[in-house]
Amino acid sequence: MHLTYLYHDDYLSNMTYGPRCDKCSNPICPEDGSNETVRIISMGKTFHVQCYQCQDCSLQLNDELDRRCYPLGDILLCQACCRRRLASVNNNL
Ligand SMILES: [Zn+2]
Ligand SMILES: [Zn+2]
Repeated sequence: MHLTYLYHDDYLSNMTYGPRCDKCSNPICPEDGSNETVRIISMGKTFHVQCYQCQDCSLQLNDELDRRCYPLGDILLCQACCRRRLASVNNNL
């Protein structure tokens, strides 16, 4: 089971904790014109919403049924790419 949390931080708590994206390693800052930060927390890591995407096909992942994250190890994958990787692993045995 993979739990995905979407956090809406207020600006002050963001300044205190200074979260960094695990994928691009840039700090996660409020969007322009907003003092609210939106980030994804998954597998104990923090991501920009736009960085939370499939490593193979770059599909942006979220909690929608057909866009859920199916991580393999610490690789973020969509369901289709996860299946394809698992299939190719099995074919190599
Ligand atoms: Zn990022
Ligand atoms: Zn994919």
